[in-house]
Amino acid sequence: MIKDDKCIFCKIIEKSIPSKVLFENDKNLAFLDIFPVSKGHTIVIPKNHYKNLEEIPNNELSELFEIVKKVSILIHKKLKVDGYNILQNNFRAAGQVVNHFHVHIIPRSNEDGKFKLFIPKKQAKEEELNQILRVING
Ligand code: 5GP
Ligand code: ZN
Repeated sequence: MIKDDKCIFCKIIEKSIPSKVLFENDKNLAFLDIFPVSKGHTIVIPKNHYKNLEEIPNNELSELFEIVKKVSILIHKKLKVDGYNILQNNFRAAGQVVNHFHVHIIPRSNEDGKFKLFIPKKQAKEEELNQILRVING
């Protein structure tokens, strides 16, 4: 296992910090977030310490997402929520606080209004979209 001794999620994996585990196998762990956005807010992590999406190998990423799907279905059925967001933050600018790659499963109800209120957006002009394509695709 790849491990960082200072990482809080690595400590959760080795059980030196307790957590409420929803699912665990040899490679991945799903546990309840201690500051939940909503009831059942869950974090899914690989047991290997990778900082972010760019570090985790593709085969481990796809196995992790199979667990994300399994746990999402479990939450959907058992907690009887209306829906859920899959959220994955990379780097500080995007709100990543714990530098051990992780996926949030955030249960939602039809009326909670939690996310829409906080994400401002406006329609782009076509030229702005074209400009982005030129920069990315060359
Ligand atoms: P980030 O902002 O890095 O995407 O999310 C990190 C998440 O980990 C936060 O939602 C935070 O509440 C959760 N978290 C941080 N420390 C602990 C902990 O010690 N135990 C648990 N269960 N969750 C934690
Ligand atoms: Zn770690």
